[in-house]
Amino acid sequence: MDYSSLARKYGTPLYVYDFNEIQKNFIALKEVFAARKSLVCFAIKANSNLSVLKFLSDLGSGFDCVSIGELRRALYVGAKSYKIIFSGVGKQDGELEFALKSDILLINLESEAEMLRLERIAQKLNKPARISIRVNPNVDAKTHPYISTGLNENKFGVNIETARKMYIYAKKSKFLNPVGIHFHIGSQLTDISPICDAAKIVSDLLRELRALEIDIKFFDVGGGIGIRYEDEKQIVLYDYAQGILKSLSGLDVTIVCEPGRFIAGAAGVFLTRVLYEKQNCGKRFVIVDGAMNDLIRPSLYGAHHAIEIIGASEGINLNEPDASEVNLGSRGEDQTSGSDADQKNLGGVNLAETSLCDVVGPICESGDFLAKGVSLPSLQSGDLLAIKSAGAYGFSMSSNYNTRCRAAEVAVYDGQDRLIRKRESFDELIALEKDLV
Ligand SMILES: *Cc1c(COP(=O)(O)O)cnc(C)c1O
Repeated sequence: MDYSSLARKYGTPLYVYDFNEIQKNFIALKEVFAARKSLVCFAIKANSNLSVLKFLSDLGSGFDCVSIGELRRALYVGAKSYKIIFSGVGKQDGELEFALKSDILLINLESEAEMLRLERIAQKLNKPARISIRVNPNVDAKTHPYISTGLNENKFGVNIETARKMYIYAKKSKFLNPVGIHFHIGSQLTDISPICDAAKIVSDLLRELRALEIDIKFFDVGGGIGIRYEDEKQIVLYDYAQGILKSLSGLDVTIVCEPGRFIAGAAGVFLTRVLYEKQNCGKRFVIVDGAMNDLIRPSLYGAHHAIEIIGASEGINLNEPDASEVNLGSRGEDQTSGSDADQKNLGGVNLAETSLCDVVGPICESGDFLAKGVSLPSLQSGDLLAIKSAGAYGFSMSSNYNTRCRAAEVAVYDGQDRLIRKRESFDELIALEKDLV
């Protein structure tokens, strides 16, 4: 992909999404469950852009929403209501009412209190609610604590005993129709065994419920499939599917999954330009025009995103060992190369001479960095960097901190680029305040 010309055409900082890659990921996941009834519900929180959602909806995707805003985004792009599920640990009355009226597939409940609340609302509207309960199987997803959700100590879901009680209550209620069971143990999982363990635990409960004539039709395994940011092990989709299906033998259920990162993560890059280089007491900083308000994952989770340097010629992936002898994106000990090393030039960037640096944004926080301790060549003002695998939890987590206008977003499909979100202007940024001063 020609990042240089996209950056020239749309400016930086800029998010670019490869829609062919999104399509490929969606289809791969759909196909791996092809032998079963299945529904792939894209987790909107990972990338909420309307054009991304419309594209996925046209491919047949359903949606996992965690707020009324996300639900309205899905409906706005014409998603089928029977392919929408609504999750979240703190749904408000108005949200539950809207979801009920929208006649979506499932409302995922996360507490007894929420169930009683929904029952009252359903009664008021005289409209029984199709529900599913998020069960916390108490397995350790072995991921970052901020994105691990399957242990009893987390705020999400209810334990097995509570779930059992809730299902029995719901079965007796005129206004609750328990048709689904749900778990989601965490994000960026690189190993299938926690998911398989969870599937086993939850499917055992499902069998128990069926014996009580509680007819669960949807088995929702959540999201969480990890992607490769650095050198993580990657889940093999076939093994993932087989690991889940193993628990479901003899059960006629529709499998629902809620991938976010897996669909959009590797399909996106964040383009940012170098403003300056500086040394503080011997420590090297590359200051760029993108910041933690645009991409907060490094600051929030200590996440690593590979960095590709885009030269004036064309982007060469410097993180692929065979693309260059210098592994520019990797972390490591001081590895300043000698000047007699082969001089490689990429659009004026000398690739042979690298040194450790932090890539930081202009925001007034020490936590504002896009990469720490990475080995990069000497860079000049205007050089373009591509921060890789930024298609999920990138723009959707962005903010206006430091009164920075949010970045633009571009889609590339079959070689054609298209603006899918305009760069925010200062007027738009202050729109809700300016008449109130
Ligand atoms: C965040 C979330 C997802 C998506 O997680 P990914 O790791 O992006 O696949 C799916 N389901 C629920 C309930 C979530 O909270």
